[in-house]
Amino acid sequence: MNLERDLQDMREYYRSGKTKEASWRKLQLQRLKAFLKEKERDIYRALNQDLGKHHVEAFRDEIGVLQKSINFALQNLKEWMSSKKAKLPAVAVLSYAEIVPEPLGLVLIISSWNFSIGLSLEPLIGAIAAGNTVVLKPSELASASSSLLANALPTYIDSKAIKVIEGGPAVGEHLLQQKWDKIFFTGSTRVGRMVMSAAVKHLTPITLELGGKCPAIIDSLTSSWDKEAAVKRIIVSKYGPCAGQACIAIDYLLVEEKFTSTLVELLKVHIKKMLGENPRKSNSIARIINKHHFSRLKNLLNDPMVKDSIVYGGSVDEANLFIEPTVLVDPPLQAAIMTEEIFGPLLPIITLKRIEDSIDFINSRPKPLVIYAFTKNERLQRRMVSETSSGSIVFNDAVIQFVADTLPFGGIGESGIGSYHGKFSFDAFSHHKPVVRRSYLSEIWFRFPPWNNYKLQLFELVYNYDYLGMLLVILGLKRPRKVAI
Ligand code: NAD
Repeated sequence: MNLERDLQDMREYYRSGKTKEASWRKLQLQRLKAFLKEKERDIYRALNQDLGKHHVEAFRDEIGVLQKSINFALQNLKEWMSSKKAKLPAVAVLSYAEIVPEPLGLVLIISSWNFSIGLSLEPLIGAIAAGNTVVLKPSELASASSSLLANALPTYIDSKAIKVIEGGPAVGEHLLQQKWDKIFFTGSTRVGRMVMSAAVKHLTPITLELGGKCPAIIDSLTSSWDKEAAVKRIIVSKYGPCAGQACIAIDYLLVEEKFTSTLVELLKVHIKKMLGENPRKSNSIARIINKHHFSRLKNLLNDPMVKDSIVYGGSVDEANLFIEPTVLVDPPLQAAIMTEEIFGPLLPIITLKRIEDSIDFINSRPKPLVIYAFTKNERLQRRMVSETSSGSIVFNDAVIQFVADTLPFGGIGESGIGSYHGKFSFDAFSHHKPVVRRSYLSEIWFRFPPWNNYKLQLFELVYNYDYLGMLLVILGLKRPRKVAI
């Protein structure tokens, strides 16, 4: 394969205007939906092979979410593509303006391994809806998913406009050296920085969907119903999505001292209810992606600084790349488990004297992708919204925000740049072009030199929407202001 020539062909195809047609976009989205339906079993097999994902989890987090996103895009495509009228100020009298969305051109999508199908195709939906040609590079670490996408996708969608290129960092770097009209990257903050510096060369716009540590604060809830609901939601959001290998999984909990022992007991009970007495035998929790990440997580646990803080779990099984759902209480804050993104089924609980102290705790660290807060205290909720900064904030649940087509999904600061999902995906791959049409029938005569204070006064009045004042000046009933320089 000759990448440069392929990209040249794709640019020419884009220039032909084919991908801009509404019918082309609609057809590609329908074909993507057919791929998900007809290859459903192959996708389950690939996700199981790569990550040991249960097919229900694979549907809940990937296939189902994608079907929903495609349906939403198909329902709204016409409206998204339509130009929107815009008002103009009086200086542009007898003019007509609209905002026309136009595709960006040839775009690159680089995705991660943890939701290897979902996070490859979710941005692709936006890129197609917006009318672009696309190169997609899935992660080499989820090799079964990557190869399924590379082999099967071209038989469903227009392969002149959408190509899947497989490979690891070397291929990624080679791709980043090319000229793109947009780079959409999902992955680590480390590689995100490389993407951003590569984009500098051609001033390429970027979206960076990155990671970090998502905290969850849990208030001392009083009713047993609320406590149980919160704990079940915490478990499913920590160990549930891909065994914690998820950017929006809860990384650690912040809890009031007095609630810690109750919380730990409830976590133990409900982990057992969901994953059985021996989670190693459960097929409802995914496996770690590879030996490298397994060792990374094992080292976080074996760190002499944290060993004594394990209160539940802690066993590992290298042959099966399994790490037991583990709970730790108060590991030292300088330990790697509290300074690095965990990205696995280890849940540190940090105890605080007062739950309000969580605000300073969070603010003293990089801005997270999400903050979760299990609290019914409305004052605390308001303070969390106004006094912290994060990609998003969710009260009394976790991860659920990912499936909302109506909310922008993305980070801030080190957790990312830009956002997508629903219309925000369309916008991420579009340029909103203002189009202004002037008439020759009218003129703002005072826009032309020679300059005098009379013209200055008229400008001042028109920019301040004071049309009566303007009329009075024109009729000579008001004296123009004098400006002496
Ligand atoms: P990664 O950064 O190692 O890899 C992501 C992609 O970049 C892969 O396709 C990989 O092949 C490619 N890549 C690696 N090195 C490269 C290089 N030098 N040049 C160009 N491309 C290169 O990340 P990962 O391990 O796949 O994913 C885990 C990280 O992604 C975590 O930090 C997680 O939080 C984050 N993540 C974020 C989101 C989100 O939506 N915000 C979603 C999933 C994962």
